[in-house]
Amino acid sequence: MTAPLFASVAPAPSPSADALAACLDDLRSLLGDRLSTAQVIRDQHGRDESYHTPAAPDAVAFALTTDEVVAIVKTCARHGVPIIPFGTGTSLEGHIAALHGGVCVDVSGMNTILSVRPADMDVTVQAGVTRKQLNEYLRDTGLFFPIDPGADASLGGMASTRASGTNAVRYGTMRENVLSLTVVLADGRVIRTARRARKSAAGYDLTRLFVGSEGTLGIITEVTVRLYGIPEAVAAAVCPFPDVGAAVNAVIDTIQLGIPVARVEFLDENQMDAVNRFSRLSYAVTPTLFFEFHGSDEAIAAQAETVKELAAAHGGVDFQWTANADERDKLWHARHNAFYAALALKPGSKGISSDTCVPISRLADCVIETKHDLQQSFLKSTMVGHVGDGNFHVLFLVDPDSPQDIAEARRLNSRLVMRAIEMDGTCTGEHGIGHGKRDYLTHELGDAMDVMRAVKAALDPQNLFNPGKII
Ligand SMILES: Cc1cc2nc3c(=O)[nH]c(=O)nc-3n(C[C@H](O)[C@H](O)[C@H](O)COP(=O)(O)OP(=O)(O)OC[C@H]3O[C@@H](n4cnc5c(N)ncnc54)[C@H](O)[C@@H]3O)c2cc1C
Repeated sequence: MTAPLFASVAPAPSPSADALAACLDDLRSLLGDRLSTAQVIRDQHGRDESYHTPAAPDAVAFALTTDEVVAIVKTCARHGVPIIPFGTGTSLEGHIAALHGGVCVDVSGMNTILSVRPADMDVTVQAGVTRKQLNEYLRDTGLFFPIDPGADASLGGMASTRASGTNAVRYGTMRENVLSLTVVLADGRVIRTARRARKSAAGYDLTRLFVGSEGTLGIITEVTVRLYGIPEAVAAAVCPFPDVGAAVNAVIDTIQLGIPVARVEFLDENQMDAVNRFSRLSYAVTPTLFFEFHGSDEAIAAQAETVKELAAAHGGVDFQWTANADERDKLWHARHNAFYAALALKPGSKGISSDTCVPISRLADCVIETKHDLQQSFLKSTMVGHVGDGNFHVLFLVDPDSPQDIAEARRLNSRLVMRAIEMDGTCTGEHGIGHGKRDYLTHELGDAMDVMRAVKAALDPQNLFNPGKII
């Protein structure tokens, strides 16, 4: 009989009550009152912003240094106790749920900005630094960190979910912007995945292996990311369209012509209604695009005028643009509140968010077919998208106590995911897999999943790190 090509992933650890108690005793000696078993703290660390059933860890360890993370990992490994890394808990696919119990390692206290290097346009931070904290700190340097997932997430969490957001169309995602990571491995070894060079052909790309690994391969303790010059001028624009197809086709033309938009966001009529009600605005209740342009005064004016013409060719004749900072902030504030605005349409509801991404040439087909599906359903939903990347979300508003609502959201989401995969797209453009999308990942990647399992088995032979996620 031939041996299997790849090692298989160990079953999730299942420590005895005695092993768990001994582990927590050891961690208490190490951390004192920075190890918490209080129910409220455990609950808070096992629940994300999604509809997935929460699962509290047995304890939460608040780490402050890489050395402490090493000691925590070694202690948990010795007792065979699962480890769930935690940044700010804003992920959306049940990523932080302690499906097999264990110790949540909260690195939010590791929030020191270690080194800003303006000459190299990069920065190294501890993993718990949040993106707003970083940008606040950078303000006087003329530099900024562009990745903006809406929530004020930690850089370690953003690296771990390969996050992006509204301006990835111009600046890329965490994949393009992380230069190097410091990671604590399952045996307590600390590695740095790369130096800071902007390009490197030095062996396997370990940085990108850990980017998107969702806490399943190690704990990231330091992150080095690229920075960008704050643009000389910024303009924002809003444009209503007669229908969904017209709006999306205007985006496709904009991208295919190579216009360097910094942001282009699509909101359907339901989402515009929600935004108006939530932020007391009076936009037309019709499919709408929000744009942002970065550059010199001349460049932003030229970009805005070109996009205005493209929009008009698709029926978007009321294109309004402004470089006024207050008006811009009002517009983007409304967009950033889109999630909570949508939830407010159905008080007491929870949001189930889809997250597909398709090649830009298939975007119109995917959005139009999806919209058709949604119109046939009894379930209320809204649609928003970072459409410049081919990425859009449907937010299904479900009564969390209604099995019918949840079944319908799952049915519609499943149709959408399969449609995107058939179009050579993906089940998740930015939120990640967690445990909510595991089945879809297998469908999307087929045999490539065996390679992922082999990586997991090699780096985490006891399956200690975030068991039950991705794989
Ligand atoms: C309203 C709203 C809007 C959002 N919009 C977007 C969006 O536009 N784009 C987008 O990409 N995301 C979006 N998200 C999702 C979320 O903000 C991102 O997934 C974010 O990157 C999670 O970061 P976090 O610090 O909260 O990580 P957490 O939720 O704490 O953790 C996420 C995962 O990373 C692991 N992890 C965390 N820290 C570490 C570490 N130091 N080392 C190893 N593993 C770690 C965890 O184990 C978990 O698996 C949104 C969320 C909300 C609530």
